[in-house]
Amino acid sequence: MRDLADQLGRLVSGGADAVLGSVPSALTSDATEARGLRGYGDAVVFPTTTEEVAAVTAWCYERGVPITPRGGGSGYAGGAVPNGGVVLCLERMRRVRSLEPLLWRAEVEAGVRTVDVQRLARENGLYFPPDPGAAEQSQIGGNVATNAGGPHAFKYGVTGAWVTGVEAVVPPGHVVRVGGPVRKDVAGYDLCSLLVGSEGTLGIITAVMLRFIPAIEARYPVLGFYPDARAGAAAVEACLASGVVPAALEYLDEEAIEIVRQAFPAAMPVEPCFAVIAEADGSKREASDARRVLAEALSDGALAVEEPAGIREIEALWRWREGVGFAADAVYGGKVSEDIGVPVDRLADAIEGTREIGRRRGLATCSWGHAGDGNLHATFLFSREDADARTRALAAAEDLFELTEQLGGTISGEHGVGLVKAGQLHRRWNASAVELHRKLKHLFDPANLLNPGKKAP
Ligand SMILES: Cc1cc2nc3c(=O)[nH]c(=O)nc-3n(C[C@H](O)[C@H](O)[C@H](O)COP(=O)(O)OP(=O)(O)OC[C@H]3O[C@@H](n4cnc5c(N)ncnc54)[C@H](O)[C@@H]3O)c2cc1C
Repeated sequence: MRDLADQLGRLVSGGADAVLGSVPSALTSDATEARGLRGYGDAVVFPTTTEEVAAVTAWCYERGVPITPRGGGSGYAGGAVPNGGVVLCLERMRRVRSLEPLLWRAEVEAGVRTVDVQRLARENGLYFPPDPGAAEQSQIGGNVATNAGGPHAFKYGVTGAWVTGVEAVVPPGHVVRVGGPVRKDVAGYDLCSLLVGSEGTLGIITAVMLRFIPAIEARYPVLGFYPDARAGAAAVEACLASGVVPAALEYLDEEAIEIVRQAFPAAMPVEPCFAVIAEADGSKREASDARRVLAEALSDGALAVEEPAGIREIEALWRWREGVGFAADAVYGGKVSEDIGVPVDRLADAIEGTREIGRRRGLATCSWGHAGDGNLHATFLFSREDADARTRALAAAEDLFELTEQLGGTISGEHGVGLVKAGQLHRRWNASAVELHRKLKHLFDPANLLNPGKKAP
């Protein structure tokens, strides 16, 4: 596709390597690779300014060429897996446009990595709470496009809660700026929230306005270990009833614990167990008081309760928790992991149901996730060489969505719909609401060229 690349090359600065005439394999997949998902495309473009994004979009729109916006490629829904056309990579748009620490706010371009936004806040005495697990790889534009969560979303909310404005290019190539540093604004529809979580199907996010809060002085996690999921889920509810709002409230089921047991940085019971992690935060005194209450709430029915002390132990604990997904990848090489969300009082049903589906389909399972949010990473494991097991894992995911519907939950709590759950919106919304999604998509993108085949029907 040299011709396509030559023409795109005239629209962007950045030299010969700002456009590629073929799509390298690293850009035809995302974190769904472990389930065997791979797309195809005709060219890649790396714009460095919003005007270049607008020019590329206009050029593609005039010629009927599909566009796949791509951030860090860490998505678990196949949203950045191209369906032909142009892969538009935001990684060269990484300027911090403004930073006002005393007003707790910044405007950054879409390609700034998540970890760099977190660092920017930290180095200025501030805190940016969204903490999705692939922070070294993901970009803030991708986080906003997926409305990413993370462990601390329980107390602080998901990425969208920290976005006050968005700059985006919408078809057929117009730049819009919605929201901004105004704290209250009801003039018009909430277009900013509409673009948040739109997974690159309504617009290409080029910059975001973010809010921060003053840095948190202390974080004290507490761990409870339980004989099974029922006892663990009861402990999660006891934490909620305690009156303290934990900053994070996480769990690992018995199978997930076995996968990462060897790497656990402290002591844990030798028998199979289910773990709950609750973190208290605030000033040193607040966090210490809250830890005491949470430890008491977690102790009922527990095999053991641990309170890691010292910054090193606490950091090691969170690194261990972040490593669960990678460790699950390594068991057999393949996995289908779904991020369902259920009402928190149905958590044990969802965990046990995942296990039961795996048993029926002849697959090993494990699950872990954001217990307080009722958000599970329900995972079916298989060997990549075993095509039959992969088919069974995909069927198991369908069973899981059915179970989720029965439990009054959602097919995606944080990764989005993307390609892997396209066509499943009816499981979450009634026919009229699905139709509204279709109309919205058509309004923004009448030729269906922006990330076609993803999210909306
Ligand atoms: C180890 C691991 C841990 C993870 N942990 C979490 C977690 O805790 N919570 C969570 O929510 N997710 C998690 N994820 C999933 C993933 O990191 C998030 O979905 C993340 O927000 C994706 O960002 P990205 O920049 O990699 O986006 P990509 O994967 O590149 O893209 C994701 C979607 O956003 C669109 N997109 C990307 N950039 C833009 C843009 N600038 N404008 C418009 N659309 C865009 C793409 O088209 C695609 O639809 C994890 C993934 C891994 C691999």
